[in-house]
Amino acid sequence: MKFATRVIHAGMEPDPSTGAIIPPIYQTSTFVQAAPGDHKGYEYARSQNPTRKALETALASIENARFALSYSSGVAASDAVIRLLLPGDEVIAANDMYGGTFRLFSKIFEKTGIHFHYVNMQNPENIRGLINEKTKLIWTETPTNPLMNIVDLAAVAAIAKEKHLLLCVDNTFASPYLQNPLDLGADIVIHSATKYLGGHSDVIHGCLMMNDPALREQLYFIQKSCGAVPGPQDCFLVLRGIKTLELRMQRHCENGEKIAHWLRKNSKVKTVYWCGFEDHPGYAVASRQMRGFGGMISFELKNSSAEETKRVLSATRLFSLAESLGGVESLISHPASMTHASIPREERIKNGLSDSLIRLSVGIEDAGDLTEDLDQAIG
Ligand SMILES: *Cc1c(COP(=O)(O)O)cnc(C)c1O
Repeated sequence: MKFATRVIHAGMEPDPSTGAIIPPIYQTSTFVQAAPGDHKGYEYARSQNPTRKALETALASIENARFALSYSSGVAASDAVIRLLLPGDEVIAANDMYGGTFRLFSKIFEKTGIHFHYVNMQNPENIRGLINEKTKLIWTETPTNPLMNIVDLAAVAAIAKEKHLLLCVDNTFASPYLQNPLDLGADIVIHSATKYLGGHSDVIHGCLMMNDPALREQLYFIQKSCGAVPGPQDCFLVLRGIKTLELRMQRHCENGEKIAHWLRKNSKVKTVYWCGFEDHPGYAVASRQMRGFGGMISFELKNSSAEETKRVLSATRLFSLAESLGGVESLISHPASMTHASIPREERIKNGLSDSLIRLSVGIEDAGDLTEDLDQAIG
């Protein structure tokens, strides 16, 4: 079945008790048993909930995975993955990734004795020098946030396989419509479903997808033992969001392309970061591993003073100044003071994230209205 059909039908069994076409929001904590151990597959809602099960079925299907597990947030899903490790284990992570993931690794897990190395993964060979007998996991993200760098997932997966390491890919920026890391050799995919999967800026949610039943068992055990599970209402919202994922992503891609080219032609703009430009260093890899280039764009103004950057960030009317991305409405943000403030300044600058970088999450509005808004803001 094609993606457009799977987003509508996967996980959507008519409700057995009423025939409801949409899985009801099973707002219940427990399930009555006829006799001890004699139940319908549901005992207690931290372990299983029918709304969550419908969502997990849909999530697995759209990422071409055998299994999916869903969480109360994207970082809760990331947290579950690192809980697979033991003190002394080492992780090799991309140096250009979501600030909250860096904070989770450096401020929460580093003190438990798990050690994290950060490396530029645009050249996958850089990973090899950091692998030793303690290395257990490679963690990467592509396109990267907020510099839109591209990591060759098949090349990283080949190194992971050769060295018997797990590979976890944060696929939030691309969404399962544009890229499927498991098909390229990854072991685990993580999404912040808060972004494109939910798609309407109305829910915080995360998920993991995987193919290996043993890995699924370990992660399910962590999910039920640590308890970072989503409520049924949130599962319902993500399930509804997924139905329009293909349509929304197509428009995000169209609008992203128009706005990236428009920005590049603007005389006040110095640099535009978007992986769909043919002269982008990751273009060839992106064209191979993605089905489109998405709606995430960063740029810097020629006048890169703090005042001018701040002025433009506050002057847009349709682009709302806010953290997050992937919703139907366009957002504008300032990574250095917002999403990436938890990364030390020297570390940010070293990785190319300047204080004057502006990030756009291009929504699905009319592209002409969006460029008009940017035009009046950039002035
Ligand atoms: C937002 C985000 C996360 C964290 O997800 P939450 O749902 O906010 O917890 C992780 N990775 C990326 C790339 C993100 O954009």
